[in-house]
Amino acid sequence: MTIDVDKVWKLYINGEWVETDSTYDIIDPATTKVVGRAPEATVQHALDSAAAAKDALAGWKRLSTAERGAYIAKLADVLEEVTPDWVELVQAETGATMKIAKTLQVSGQMIERFRYYVNPPDLRESLLPQPAEANALGPAGLISATVTRQPVGVVAAITPYNFPLTNVAGKIAPALAMGNTCIIKPAPQDPLGILLLAEAVDRAGFPPGVINVITGSGPEAPAALVDSPNVNMISFTGSSPVGAKIFENGGKTMKRLLMELGGKGALIMADDADVGAAVSAIATVWGFHSGQICTAPTRVICHRSKYDETVESLKGISGFLKVGDPTLDDTLVGPVITETHRDRVEEFIQSGVDAGATMVVGGERPDLPGYFVAPTLLADCTPDMHVVQEEAFGPVVVVLPHDGDDEAIELANNSDYGLFSYVFSADQTRAYRIANQLESGNVALNCVQPHMRAPFGGYKMSGIGRDRGRWGLEAYSEIQAINWM
Ligand code: NAD
Repeated sequence: MTIDVDKVWKLYINGEWVETDSTYDIIDPATTKVVGRAPEATVQHALDSAAAAKDALAGWKRLSTAERGAYIAKLADVLEEVTPDWVELVQAETGATMKIAKTLQVSGQMIERFRYYVNPPDLRESLLPQPAEANALGPAGLISATVTRQPVGVVAAITPYNFPLTNVAGKIAPALAMGNTCIIKPAPQDPLGILLLAEAVDRAGFPPGVINVITGSGPEAPAALVDSPNVNMISFTGSSPVGAKIFENGGKTMKRLLMELGGKGALIMADDADVGAAVSAIATVWGFHSGQICTAPTRVICHRSKYDETVESLKGISGFLKVGDPTLDDTLVGPVITETHRDRVEEFIQSGVDAGATMVVGGERPDLPGYFVAPTLLADCTPDMHVVQEEAFGPVVVVLPHDGDDEAIELANNSDYGLFSYVFSADQTRAYRIANQLESGNVALNCVQPHMRAPFGGYKMSGIGRDRGRWGLEAYSEIQAINWM
């Protein structure tokens, strides 16, 4: 698919394509050129999509798990066929390097997330019968119970810009499998791939209203979904401040919430850590979507005996990372998403230098047309610095020394966040014991890869709830206990 800047993109509400009165430009962050004009949904469009999802709910949840699975399988089949054509557009709107665009933005994991929920695990459980004494409620006897799961209802998926398609797939696949209907509100910066997903949904023949898509540049339309009594659950991935706002506003209608929020991944290097392996892992902050990933190991807590070697190795490796045109195969660091975000990351780095951190690499804005930030390493950081406490969501690594496991654990836990942490030690048992003391939803030992079926989510300001695997189904369900004698 060559990019057609003049394509008229439309919202997808109740199985119909809805043209909006206004649109806004979607910009390729590597070139600053317009790649398309996205529909600007109004509050009324948000309310219409919520009403459509509510109307579709009774029919969708009445279907058997296998019948819903057949729709999801059909969607996955359509996606296998059409997604190779999406790479160019999704690459351009996200600014991802070609390798990331092909393997992580489009196809691969996204389709896999749908396939997994075609035959979802059965979550029902039975309890052991319990003797009940005779009382004012009735006679004595053995009472039995089974615990079943019901869909929550209408789920609004409000998502961030970094991995638009995989993130949405991770939400709607389990939600649909469980019998919920959905409204998707992707991030303002790169929603066109999600509108392509709506085209695939339409082709797969889902009943009208089961999946709706609205796009827009401002907070009004998604905020209306949070307020709407027709929406039962908000599945949100994004920044912690916006998550907190949704938590507060959703309280009025007692919204069910799945909150996947910010992170400031700690990577602990023990005194026996393999420096080469740890340094390769840390360098992913620079090379993996320019650090625009919530799980990145951006906060290195390194044993003092390995500190100089680690900083030198990171400095060395940074020189091999080609920054530039993300469409070239050998580029490893592409742009960040917008000019505003580039400026924010630059201010973030400057705040570290102003507070006394040593800029080991980075600091100069690359001489390129788009919104680039060079790989940056700040050493000699102290725990209370803004750059140590806050997320940059850019290619920025901070390093702090420690003098032993207990101090490393204390430093790692000295954070409002607790999403994904890492422990590097030659001794797996020691690494496991350290992991067990971290306030972090996920911990990886001597690697940075997540297990894609393991429950995913955060402690503290990193969120509420877990998804992926069977936890994805649990997240999008209400628990119902049925008792009998
Ligand atoms: P963001 O919070 O700025 O926006 C996310 C979404 O919220 C967008 O769709 C936006 O339109 C919507 N939104 C904004 N104001 C709203 C309001 N008042 N009510 C309802 N919705 C509103 O996040 P972003 O900049 O797109 O993404 C980066 C953030 O996402 C980082 O903090 C990152 O750590 C986090 N993130 C977390 C995970 C995770 O799984 N924990 C994954 C990816 C990204």
